Amino acid sequence: MNLKLRIWRQQSANASGSFVTYQVSDITPDMSFLEMLDVLNEDLINRQEPPVAFEHDCREGICGSCGFLVNGVAHGGQRGTTVCQLAMRFFEDGDTITLEPWRARAFPVIRDLIVNRSAFDRIIQSGGFITVPTGSAPDANAVLVPKEDADTAFDAAACIGCGACVAACPNAAAMLFTSAKVTHLNSLPQGEPQRDQRTLSMVATMRNELFGSCTNHGECEAVCPKQIPLEFIGKMNRDLIRAAWRRHREPLLMPSVVQQPFMEDSHEHSDKHADTQLPADAQK
Ligand code: SF4
Repeated sequence: MNLKLRIWRQQSANASGSFVTYQVSDITPDMSFLEMLDVLNEDLINRQEPPVAFEHDCREGICGSCGFLVNGVAHGGQRGTTVCQLAMRFFEDGDTITLEPWRARAFPVIRDLIVNRSAFDRIIQSGGFITVPTGSAPDANAVLVPKEDADTAFDAAACIGCGACVAACPNAAAMLFTSAKVTHLNSLPQGEPQRDQRTLSMVATMRNELFGSCTNHGECEAVCPKQIPLEFIGKMNRDLIRAAWRRHREPLLMPSVVQQPFMEDSHEHSDKHADTQLPADAQK
């Protein structure tokens, strides 16, 4: 296959960037997208030009390092597929392919296709810890976890933190990512003691990191390579209301912590995210 690549080149965070067009040839359908970029970079290095900077690590779709827009779609548009697992067989000989970094204020470009996603790390860090007893190893099954809860936690833990959800969202919201991280630990008995604080803290950090507001477009779920479901956003919103109600019991806190934008926007668009019914135990 011979391809024309339009790639965003930007020397540094402070430099201005532009698209540069390259030709690549002898690409086989079985190559992955990143292997195709390796071919381009070998050619650029041989010509003593700077190679295109892009992130990668495991190349097995589990590390969350890779990710950029391919023809305007995060990870290239194959459902449940990271860009490292995107095969060149999905493209045609002679295609023109446009590559851009994630576009979000919270993800400033570092160079070419690499953005700074440390805002995600700070959201995770603000979630804190879980309580575990120290001492000798506990017996197996000492803490019983209902199958349904284990499945929910496992599904949420599949989030690899790639940032595609932010890039796809017209508001650059990080709700799908944050809800996956919140739901993962909040679903398990080991995460229960810090459940309220974790939820409040991670949502507050998310809001402070320049991410936009969720208005229920659903673009995040559509591009997520791990197919994290939108329902986790509803779960996080319910946990947030519960936490604000139980831990603080100060109604005046709720407008700043909860209502903007999680409740106001949700009313108009979808019941899925708008479950403002307080859980029974929160009303006590
Ligand atoms: S929710 Fe999906 S798209 Fe968003 S960071 Fe996690 S794996 Fe990536």
